[in-house]
Amino acid sequence: MEIEALKQMDLDYVLHTYARNYTHFIKGSGATLYDAGGRDYIDFGSGIAVCSVGHGNLRLAEAIYKQAKNLIHTSNLYCIEPQARLAKRLVELSGYDMRVFFANSGAEANEGALKIARKFGAERGGRYQIITLDSSFHGRTISTLKATGQENMHTYFGPFPDGFLYAKDIEDIPNKISNVTCAVLLELVQGEGGITPFDKQEVQNLAKFLKTKDILLMIDEVQTGIYRSGELFASQVYGIAPDVITTAKGLAGGVPIGAVMTNLKDIFSPGDHGSTFGGNFLATTAALEVLEILEEIKQSGKLRGITDYFTQKLQSLQKSHSDIFLQEVGLGLMRGLRLKSQELLSKFLQESFNEGVLILKSGKNTARFLPSLTITKEEIDRGFERIDSAIKRFV
Ligand SMILES: *Cc1c(COP(=O)(O)O)cnc(C)c1O
Repeated sequence: MEIEALKQMDLDYVLHTYARNYTHFIKGSGATLYDAGGRDYIDFGSGIAVCSVGHGNLRLAEAIYKQAKNLIHTSNLYCIEPQARLAKRLVELSGYDMRVFFANSGAEANEGALKIARKFGAERGGRYQIITLDSSFHGRTISTLKATGQENMHTYFGPFPDGFLYAKDIEDIPNKISNVTCAVLLELVQGEGGITPFDKQEVQNLAKFLKTKDILLMIDEVQTGIYRSGELFASQVYGIAPDVITTAKGLAGGVPIGAVMTNLKDIFSPGDHGSTFGGNFLATTAALEVLEILEEIKQSGKLRGITDYFTQKLQSLQKSHSDIFLQEVGLGLMRGLRLKSQELLSKFLQESFNEGVLILKSGKNTARFLPSLTITKEEIDRGFERIDSAIKRFV
């Protein structure tokens, strides 16, 4: 389809919730995307941390095809073998003694976490308040939007459910706790809030403190999860044992899925929570294959190697262009380059795109890099050569 006609159709029929770039991608292979005009782009965004095993991954495609031609969905009224296997795999690989509920997105996984927190509180004298952080991001549903501590996103959509309170940072959380607090929900590295990992010691101290207060620690690993940190969950890197973990983005390599896991193994009874699509044959089969692929590259040391390589590239870019880059930040293959201003960030992203590199934004002035975890050195080199040319265009 002609790009102008496609753009017009999109504008005419799709609600305008995204400030889209009207590039028309028609093919992908590894960390490379191809547009309808035949140009190629190095994808350092992976569809926002979703395409964890790259584009056009044949192992994933074959697992999906084999499952799809047999059964895609039967509903949760019957047992679903790949769902049970996936839950077992998540528990085994994480080492956390938990049970899992499957949903279809990050926001929906977080809704599950909020319901766990509320039921936990209800059983303890009616505690209901959930503390989250300023500049956090937890989703777009009414409740997860309220859990999101960026007040500018709340305009128009109230009244919201009660019982959310925002702390400035990790150290401020104890100040917000009262006798109605039931849980704390936070990201260990804020994906939309600037990519700065929280301090390990502060997080561990918080975890200990919450335990003494019988308040749940719930970690939103929708973006940090699924080996992006180097481990299955960033919580493992931080050496904490959360009560609840949510995950989604990279879990099924692009097939919609979300999961909430908890050590409160009996918190829900039949009827308390549910989902029509959640954990169906298609999504959980895809996720099982993704975990297999990623566990292999972790065990072989490849993930570590490529993470170090990518990080070194970013650090030397920051050093050689300290006129525009303030700092290199991040954890694993979730990385950011802080720029001196918002204007410089816009130019950097635009010129990189013009040279054929896809990079995301985070917070006000951070360029965010979320490459697929299977990216090769050659693709990384090509991406950084293009970034060099892009910088020459505006500095
Ligand atoms: C993306 C994201 C969400 C929301 O996920 P959706 O799948 O878009 O609903 C929630 N929390 C974090 C940390 C995220 O990065």
